[in-house]
Amino acid sequence: MIYNFSPGPAMLPPEVLKKAHAEFFNWRGLGASIMEVSHRGTDFIQLIDEIEQDCRDLLNLPSHYRVLFLSGGARGQFAAIPLNLAAENRQTAYVVTGMWGKTASEEAKRYSAVKVVASNEHNHYTSIPPLEEWEDYRQAAYLHYTENETVQGIEFPQTPQVGEEVPLICDMSSSIMSRPLDITRFGLVYAGTQKNLGIAGLTIVIVRDDLVARSAQAITPSIFNYALQIKNHSMYNTPPVFPWYITGLMFKWLKEQGGLVAIGARNQRKAAKLYQYIDQNGFYQNPVQLAARSRMNVIFYLPDAEIEKLFISQSQAAGFIGLKGHSSQGGIRVSLYNAMTEAGVDALIGFMREFAKQYG
Ligand code: PMP
Repeated sequence: MIYNFSPGPAMLPPEVLKKAHAEFFNWRGLGASIMEVSHRGTDFIQLIDEIEQDCRDLLNLPSHYRVLFLSGGARGQFAAIPLNLAAENRQTAYVVTGMWGKTASEEAKRYSAVKVVASNEHNHYTSIPPLEEWEDYRQAAYLHYTENETVQGIEFPQTPQVGEEVPLICDMSSSIMSRPLDITRFGLVYAGTQKNLGIAGLTIVIVRDDLVARSAQAITPSIFNYALQIKNHSMYNTPPVFPWYITGLMFKWLKEQGGLVAIGARNQRKAAKLYQYIDQNGFYQNPVQLAARSRMNVIFYLPDAEIEKLFISQSQAAGFIGLKGHSSQGGIRVSLYNAMTEAGVDALIGFMREFAKQYG
């Protein structure tokens, strides 16, 4: 048995892989795979209408939000957001709580006047700066933050209460649909699908109508222009058909699991179990402030780099893969996205217990 804790691309539910496998050579009786038929054909159009509806059902989306299925990854959106939403030289506000928020703010500097209104870089991204300490963001075109920092294992426990003056924008690449979401608090949310919702190659953008109505900067590439993509049903360019299809299977799977309330409760239990073991054991150390610990990426350190190396090689030999921490952090990272089971977490804790006994 292999348990895959990879940070993204990440494991898929076996049910999703089996369904894709069964349909691989002959999709909907067409005698061809989904990768070989026109994206303008009736079958594909029917499929994507259904996928959008499933997305709307899962998130309970009101009609004044649009859903886009694009290429270019979350990094593409780092540029697309200021290009679409901040007219020339307008100020944009960023909260930086880890590597991805910092990268987003740096990309936005190419297209807007970025103000970093809060950052926890000085304490190595181990806590979330309290809202009362954020600098004024009310004049900005929008306020951007990263819900879950995949590298540092730090997550906003709730949506920050920032009020209505400024549209709130969130990078949910490693947390989307891992728990219920009140979209009405946001102007725009976006995520690559390769962690919680499928495979690499597709980016979901959910955006409110009044933001789509803003004039994009003149230099905005057409494929990143929200209004143009909405007009073209996310198919201004030939879309990534297979990743889109896999995300559709993930939406069906999430519905079968009982939707986001059920999946959120399960994700909470998975992370709580692992943190509880880490805290009571003492051999493994997690540096993140309790209230900001990520449910999706649990990081920890062992007493020294040599033992960490040993942990990685022995865990791999025992069937636990994808546990090496990000190169900038070292240590271990356990990614617990939607597809990871509670049994997988139990098995990993069992391995950690044995390892600590031997080397602790
Ligand atoms: N934001 C976050 C929070 C991420 O975890 C990642 C990928 N690990 C990205 C952005 C970048 O995503 P992509 O590679 O899809 O551009």
